[in-house]
Amino acid sequence: MSEGGQVCIAGGGIIGLALAFELTERGRDVCVYEAGRIGQHCAASVAAGMLAPVSEADISHPELSRLALESHGRYADFVRRVETASGEQVGYDTSGTLFVALHRDHRAQLQHLHDFQVDRGFEAEWISRAEIREMEPAISPTASAGLLLRHDHQVDPRRLMHALAAAIRGRGGTIVEDARVLRVQAAGEGYEVHVDAEGQQLGERFAQVVLAGGAWTGQIEAPLPPLPVRPVKGQVLRLRGERLISRVVRTPDVYLVPRDDGELVVGATMEEQGFDARVMAGPVLDLLREAWRCLPGIYDIELAETCAGFRPALRDHMPAIGLAHAPGLFVATGHFRNGIELAPVTAQLLAEQMETSNASPLLEPFAPGRFAEAGELPAGVAPGTEGGGR
Ligand SMILES: Cc1cc2nc3c(=O)[nH]c(=O)nc-3n(C[C@H](O)[C@H](O)[C@H](O)COP(=O)(O)OP(=O)(O)OC[C@H]3O[C@@H](n4cnc5c(N)ncnc54)[C@H](O)[C@@H]3O)c2cc1C
Repeated sequence: MSEGGQVCIAGGGIIGLALAFELTERGRDVCVYEAGRIGQHCAASVAAGMLAPVSEADISHPELSRLALESHGRYADFVRRVETASGEQVGYDTSGTLFVALHRDHRAQLQHLHDFQVDRGFEAEWISRAEIREMEPAISPTASAGLLLRHDHQVDPRRLMHALAAAIRGRGGTIVEDARVLRVQAAGEGYEVHVDAEGQQLGERFAQVVLAGGAWTGQIEAPLPPLPVRPVKGQVLRLRGERLISRVVRTPDVYLVPRDDGELVVGATMEEQGFDARVMAGPVLDLLREAWRCLPGIYDIELAETCAGFRPALRDHMPAIGLAHAPGLFVATGHFRNGIELAPVTAQLLAEQMETSNASPLLEPFAPGRFAEAGELPAGVAPGTEGGGR
């Protein structure tokens, strides 16, 4: 057993990397263990990267909407710091999102969405068929109405992760790839972390440990309250060719996310299939058909990639962020459909909590201990308690 750095992060997806970035910016000594290669096995490498607190606002989860809006407000500064630290661009694009209705049902859904957004005080502009034609001439003429959401943006998650990894390394942080965290055990004032690195078993000791393994977090053996995380599969297509639209375009059935390099992301399915990563013909057909109905020009561009990813979902579809075991064992997972959007706020508030032992009131609804029932806890676990830090 060797002495490791101060902080260990298990999982180099978007959440683990964003947190490692914030910690290295604060001068902390950080080691990220990633079971695969950065950006290859995670949900974030499949994700479209929509930053959509208005489109995704959900009446049943107001505390999640609050957190998403907070993160949204921090995004421009987060991107600026990552781009400066890495010297890389991450495709942050604030051109807005256009929701369109292609038939009567869609129009009724958009009307309902618009009423809700206006009630909540969001800026959502109802636009006509003629205005859609003027803004996005490649959209099907059947689009009879739309909602323009100027505040819903996008980022390229693959570029963001690449830049985060470069920034972390540039600041002296360590990222170890092909290294799966198997087990975390309390040891003195810290934790022993057992890792399988390309078949070799390693043991390292850290003052603080964060479990950020996305949909796989539950597979790490650790003294935690129950964390019922499951994968929700999403299949996505990437097309490539002439740029057809200038901003994110959605219908109630599909979204189309254009990048400045000619990529067009088309998504996504939501499926309960466990960790079955196969891309199936039916969902590809459905996605292509819905995308083509909205944007007929896709018929003539390349289908460059099909892929599937696993959204980490907890029972209440809200993330678990914070102290899970005093002192110093933290969790950041369960970001479900919003992990790209929520990365800045998760990383910044958790980094603060790890330094000061004070949890932001914004994180209260997301306490990792909320799934614990009396008698279910392993010895020494006090759900929702503070007192950790280093
Ligand atoms: C199809 C699809 C579309 C999406 N679109 C959007 C979107 O537009 N906007 C948005 O905000 N969100 C979107 N999401 C959701 C977003 O991708 C996730 O919420 C986010 O990626 C979760 O981040 P994470 O770091 O927790 O998990 P992941 O990104 O999955 O990363 C987890 C990482 O941990 C590693 N790991 C797992 N176990 C271990 C271990 N034991 N040891 C070491 N490493 C381990 C994995 O290899 C992986 O790299 C989408 C997701 C999908 C699937």
